[in-house]
Amino acid sequence: MNIHEYQAKEILSGYDIAVPRGRVCLTADQVERAAKMMGGHCVVKAQIYAGGRGKAGGVKVVHHPEQAQELAKELFARKLVTPQTGPEGLRVRRILVEEAVEIAREFYLSITLDRGASRYILIASAEGGVEIEEVAAKTPDKIHKLTIDPLTGLRSYQARKIALALGLTGSLCEDCVELILSLYRACLEKDCALVEVNPLVVTKAGWLMAMDAKMSFDDNAIYRHREYPDMVDYSQLDTLEITAGKYDLAYIKLDGTIGCLVNGAGLAMATLDVLNECGGKPANFLDVGGGASREKVAEAFKIILQDPDVKGIFVNIFGGIMRCDVIAQGVIEAANEVHCPLPIVVRMDGSQVEEGKRLLTTSGLNVQCADNLGDGAQRIVKMLG
Ligand code: ADP
Ligand code: MG
Repeated sequence: MNIHEYQAKEILSGYDIAVPRGRVCLTADQVERAAKMMGGHCVVKAQIYAGGRGKAGGVKVVHHPEQAQELAKELFARKLVTPQTGPEGLRVRRILVEEAVEIAREFYLSITLDRGASRYILIASAEGGVEIEEVAAKTPDKIHKLTIDPLTGLRSYQARKIALALGLTGSLCEDCVELILSLYRACLEKDCALVEVNPLVVTKAGWLMAMDAKMSFDDNAIYRHREYPDMVDYSQLDTLEITAGKYDLAYIKLDGTIGCLVNGAGLAMATLDVLNECGGKPANFLDVGGGASREKVAEAFKIILQDPDVKGIFVNIFGGIMRCDVIAQGVIEAANEVHCPLPIVVRMDGSQVEEGKRLLTTSGLNVQCADNLGDGAQRIVKMLG
């Protein structure tokens, strides 16, 4: 789960990390008033669930409240396309107006999960700012990494080593040690998958400040934080993902033409691999989980059908906890309700499989039953021609 920069900054300031003074606005008039409060000279920052805003015109310094208002009108009116949003871009519904800080140096600092090592990893670079991807690609030796042992946690001497590697000395170095330790504490306590400060800056006045902040939470830990669901900005999410979330279904959009309904993430991965091997391109996958009901399968099926890219549907379900006849009923119910004209291939196995197949083949739908995964993938690819 992602949150906006202004929300991440609110959290970080609760951990004594300095952030610029700012106000989040929902209208261009509010932006004007906020800019006035800052004395006219300020930074207008579009809040979207993606980075790269600076280069795309989503972060700009302005000098008058009217200029801030004009810029806000323009930002609210269009979608912002950055290298991280994909070509369709994201709508701007919130704008952060911030004091313009005079920056002396920009650094990169983040903590994220290294899934290979099953640990948090701290990443830092003295060459932070909007070119960080280029630094990582061209001069990877300028990126410092530290894998954090979950038992001992992050120690001061390790944080100091990073601060020194950034070229900080004296009291700034000690401030940076405190900041790094606070960032790690925030990361742990908020169950983050990522917390990134880019840039972390030294101001001309000689302070360390988080000038940008990105935070995403581990979806599996959301239940531990009652405030998280209210922090979601639905304007930033795919509508089908929102519906899927409501029914506790995991929906992932991809760029092909075959809609995939599966149970279990592992089976989903295998399904995508085999489809690709057969020359098919998945349009999405929807994981209904282990013990889904008929209604849940029906909802899942409807969500897949709402994706205009879907030209055919591949249902691949292993009926362990789930009974195959229940799955078949869900598929039939949903396909009839929305008058599904698309070809469907169902591969299922497990309890009540014969009854499930009988229900499907006598349903009058454009459906084929497959005996195994390979057979099913080949059939749906062939049906789509
Ligand atoms: P993004 O990473 O999405 O491009 P940032 O918030 O990092 O957005 O802003 C881009 C650049 O704009 C930063 O690297 C920094 O140089 C400058 N910047 C951002 N906020 C401020 C601010 N409040 N005062 C001065 N400069 C800022
Ligand atoms: Mg940034």
